[in-house]
Amino acid sequence: MNCLECNAQLNYLDHRNAMDSLGVELCTRHQNRMQTVIETHNTPLEAVQLYYGLKEVGVNAMLEWWDGKKSIDIAISRVKLNIEVDTEYHMMTHEQAMNDLEETMHSFKNGFTTIRIPHILIRHYLKETVHNILGIMQGLKANIKTI
Ligand SMILES: [Zn+2]
Repeated sequence: MNCLECNAQLNYLDHRNAMDSLGVELCTRHQNRMQTVIETHNTPLEAVQLYYGLKEVGVNAMLEWWDGKKSIDIAISRVKLNIEVDTEYHMMTHEQAMNDLEETMHSFKNGFTTIRIPHILIRHYLKETVHNILGIMQGLKANIKTI
């Protein structure tokens, strides 16, 4: 087992700590760094897991990317795709839904596509979620070429 950031070898205890705290294989140094990001931005754990899931298949994404107005959970700038991980789906009010729709509108106007993914999907179906994001990226790339 190696750290997904620096490739440092993880011993059994390091690995168990990493999986217990973040659910991602990281060395102690990178775990601490990630904890700081999470505390600063209130990042859902599933956003971290999706970020590394994408990294594993070679997608260069950014975690907590500042778009000038707010911090995006995950941004893939090459295809102008923003991904927001929703953690409180079942409690959504119409105000929140309208805010989300307005944010989506603003990002579209700036040429960005925003998708929202419920955190439980990432938690239980990470591989499939990554697979579908790859498909979305392909579609976006094709659209960018035709414009
Ligand atoms: Zn590391």
